[in-house]
Amino acid sequence: MGLAFGAAIGSFLNVVIYRMPRGMSLSNPPNSFCPKCKHRLLMSDMIPLFTWLIQRGKCKYCGERIPSRYFFVELLNGAIWAGIWWQYLIAGDDWVKALCYALAASTLVAIIFIDWELYIIPDQINAFLLFLGLAYNAWLFAQGSAAATTWGIPSSVAGALVGVLILWGIAFLGRLLFGKDAMGHGDIKMARGIGAILFPALSVVSFGLAVGLGAILGVAQIFLRPRKVTQEVAKPDSHEGREQSDVPANQTLEDEEEYEPESIGSLLKCGLGYILCIDVIGLFVPKLYKAWFNEDPFAPLEDLETFEADFTMIPFGPYLALGAIVGTVFEKQLLGAARSYWHWAAGD
Ligand SMILES: [Zn+2]
Repeated sequence: MGLAFGAAIGSFLNVVIYRMPRGMSLSNPPNSFCPKCKHRLLMSDMIPLFTWLIQRGKCKYCGERIPSRYFFVELLNGAIWAGIWWQYLIAGDDWVKALCYALAASTLVAIIFIDWELYIIPDQINAFLLFLGLAYNAWLFAQGSAAATTWGIPSSVAGALVGVLILWGIAFLGRLLFGKDAMGHGDIKMARGIGAILFPALSVVSFGLAVGLGAILGVAQIFLRPRKVTQEVAKPDSHEGREQSDVPANQTLEDEEEYEPESIGSLLKCGLGYILCIDVIGLFVPKLYKAWFNEDPFAPLEDLETFEADFTMIPFGPYLALGAIVGTVFEKQLLGAARSYWHWAAGD
């Protein structure tokens, strides 16, 4: 059951992943279409998992290859929903938590694929995570649950603060000690949303998982993208790169010399902005967003289709999202393990 629901939601996620960063509406056009031949897809063309397998990853109308991403998003989301279904509806009995975690995990699946491909995390998605966490917390309050508060404040708020402070802290330390941008701002905002949903303890565990996953998979990822590296290193004077166009051709250490990390002042201001959720409020009051971050929240992204990943960038976002997804499915096991480790380390 969970698998079927999850795969169906995964089908919708594919629409989100394609349309949202491209500034397209999710409801218009209402029907899915093939990006190549624009042929409108019928319900029978969109049976989760099966359609892709039966048509062997090709558009029925024009034969254009459908990226395997469409299949894997449905499969991954189906597996996650099956896991959550089992943990909270069969082994446990908490349908509100199941619903909240399932929605959060699906949102994180969309983030993984958008961030992986385009190195951005739309603000709207991060804001959604935050609202979801607050809504779940409000329900806990209504139930008079002890889990509703942590350290005397709402657990979602406590978790959001922990998320911002840890990720922003890493960014700040990286900037101070190494003079580098250590963390994308989208990652900080995502960590805030994760904290709001998982609450402090589980979100810290999930951040730890993310670091572990990032270390393992990040290395693998570097080896998976070797060709681009050699090309760009071999042609330092090429004018194809995005940022190289007005740089003299004879620079050998162009990366170091071009590199200008974010100023400490800007980092501090943004950090405060994320704590105050100005980026979220700013989605409704664009003037505020512009005044604080000096950016237009709804500015279209340039060159989205032609954007090529810089080989030195390793996005942490996908790992952060993956760690949190594992957190939603294995909450009980992870918190149990963390607690016994804590007791063991404390010598109980
Ligand atoms: Zn087609």
